[in-house]
Parts: sequence; structure tokens; C-alpha cells
Amino acid sequence: MRFAASLFALFAHAACTPPPRMTVPRSEAGVAIGTITLRLSNVHVLVGEHPVLVDTGSPGEHDKLVEGLHRLGIHLDDIRCAVVTHGHADHAGNARWLQQRGITIIAGQGDLWREIAGVHGHLKSTSFFATLLKAIIPGHYPPLWPDVRIHTNGRYDLASCGVAGEVIATPGHTQGSLVVLVGGGKVALVGDLFRGGALAGYVHPHEPKEHFYQDDLVLAHRRIHELLARGVEIFVLGHGGPARAADVRRVFGP
Ligand SMILES: [Zn+2]
Repeated sequence: MRFAASLFALFAHAACTPPPRMTVPRSEAGVAIGTITLRLSNVHVLVGEHPVLVDTGSPGEHDKLVEGLHRLGIHLDDIRCAVVTHGHADHAGNARWLQQRGITIIAGQGDLWREIAGVHGHLKSTSFFATLLKAIIPGHYPPLWPDVRIHTNGRYDLASCGVAGEVIATPGHTQGSLVVLVGGGKVALVGDLFRGGALAGYVHPHEPKEHFYQDDLVLAHRRIHELLARGVEIFVLGHGGPARAADVRRVFGP
């Protein structure tokens, strides 16, 4: 079963990985948003006065990340900050590597236990298929101590990083999950609050779907409703996406 799941993921990756691209224009988000799709997850870059990374990919993917940034016209040396939306290995995998190059790592206090140990932690599946997929998800990554740790109900202004935007704590997918808001709050980069499309986001990537794993499913749905209520129009996702508010409301309510 593990072999079949791995084979499936490798096939999907080889056949369909989209190239680094601009996913949300500056006219909608205040900053242009670029996306680099790596083996298991998206890394986003907010192209402001200084670029800001949102998530870092799976462990060992830093060369592909740098190559993707280069293809978007961005140099690693210009980046001051990277936001890790949560402490799962496919999002925090290269945070230590980036930190060693002088980039400030911003993460949620609730996932500190994962990050200082470099462990993915237990995954609560939302479907049987999700349980099968666990076979291809790395369990460990280089441990790190984030430079900025955002507590529950906390927020962080990204102005010092070079972008007009803020980070807010949104526990649900994990205890330390974060959301990045730009474009005056109209665009939210939500990590794994939900996912987009099927086959790792390669098919119908803009269609909102329940994420494979949720530490607290009820709380995650409440976060989605809170973001809709505060006027978020575009959801930028860790897998697939982006998704429009009308589609998110159709799938998740209220
Ligand atoms: Zn996750």
C-alpha cells in the first residue's frame, strides 16, 4: 500500500508540477504573489519592498526553492523574513536552512514543540485516503528555534520584513497555525486550513476541499468562517489554489 501511494505521488509530480508562476496580481493583493510548487507543497513569495516567503517546502528542497525564486526574478539575499504557516515537515522543512542564511523565521508558538524537535507530529486524518497518504509525508526535518513566535490571538506586522501585511494566529489545522493577510485583508495565505483540487492540487486546483489532516476540524472550519466574515476574497493555499471566497463559502458554509 505504501509503495502504491508513493508511486502515485511520484507520477503526479512528474506529470503535472506547474512551473514557478505569479498567482495573484499586485492589483488584488497590494503585493504580487508568486508560487513555487515543490514535491508536496507550495512555497509562496510576497513581492514587496523586500520579498517575504510564506512556507519553505519539504526538507532538502532548498536548491529547488532557490531555483524557483530565481525563475521569478528574486534573489535569496533580498529576503528578510519567512513565515512558517505551521510546523508540518512539508512547510517547515527548509526553515532552518533559510535561518542559517540570515532570514528571520516567523512561526506560531503552538507548534514550537514540533519545530525545536524537527518532528511532523501525529496527523489526524480526515479520510481513509488521507491515512494512506501518510506513507509519502516526511516525518522529520532540521529542527530550529524560530526567531519570532506568535502566541494564540497574537499578530505580527510584516512592515519590518518589507511587505504591507500582517500575520495572525489561527489555531485549527495545528495548534500553532498562522495566516498571512495582505491587500488590506482581502487576500489570505492560509497554509493548510484547507486544500485546493485533487491529486495534490494538480486537478481543479481552485476548488476548495477539506484538508487531509486537521488537529481540530471544528476549529479549522471556524477559522475559515472567521476569515470569510472579515472580508477575505482570495485564499492562497499550501496545496493547490488559490480559491475564491464564493467557492470557499459554497464548500464550507456558513
Ligand atoms: Zn499541514
